[in-house]
Amino acid sequence: MEEEGGEEYLFKIVVIGDSAVGKSNLLSRFARDEFDANSKATIGVEFQTQVVQVDGKEVKAQVWDTAGQERFRAVTSAYYRGAVGHCDTTVARMLVGNKCDLENIREVSVEEGKGLAEEEGLFFIETSALDSTNVIAAFEIVIRAIYSNIS
Ligand code: GDP
Ligand code: MG
Repeated sequence: MEEEGGEEYLFKIVVIGDSAVGKSNLLSRFARDEFDANSKATIGVEFQTQVVQVDGKEVKAQVWDTAGQERFRAVTSAYYRGAVGHCDTTVARMLVGNKCDLENIREVSVEEGKGLAEEEGLFFIETSALDSTNVIAAFEIVIRAIYSNIS
């Protein structure tokens, strides 16, 4: 959409994954720089927006949080569809290994994570919503990838 100050973009990002992996906290860390140790299960879907500058352009990232539970599958699948947009080349996918602060109880090695991401053609990053490691970087990589796909 063309605006007075130049182009403006709205990108939709959906965070998916099993319950309790830290999806809601990743989002709240990115959008509000907040972490909640007692976060409640997400019901259905909700989104938050954050504005990011890419190439001097303003990109509004609309990040959708989802519930991991199977019973919300019908609701969430509708949002994945919307997120695909009009053209598959605009899609960027990333595998995020969250809670990397819990190194002492790690169950998946960095190499395993990277390997899986490579097999599936995904970007890969490890994050911690708790101590903020790579949270902004994770979203920025996805946003920049989408941006470069469409420009
Ligand atoms: P969701 O169900 O995927 O949305 O997960 P939540 O964001 O609700 O987080 C589930 C639990 O994991 C909560 O107790 C969070 O405080 C905790 N948690 C989330 N992210 C991290 C993280 O990066 N590190 C640690 N140590 N705990 C986290
Ligand atoms: Mg949640």
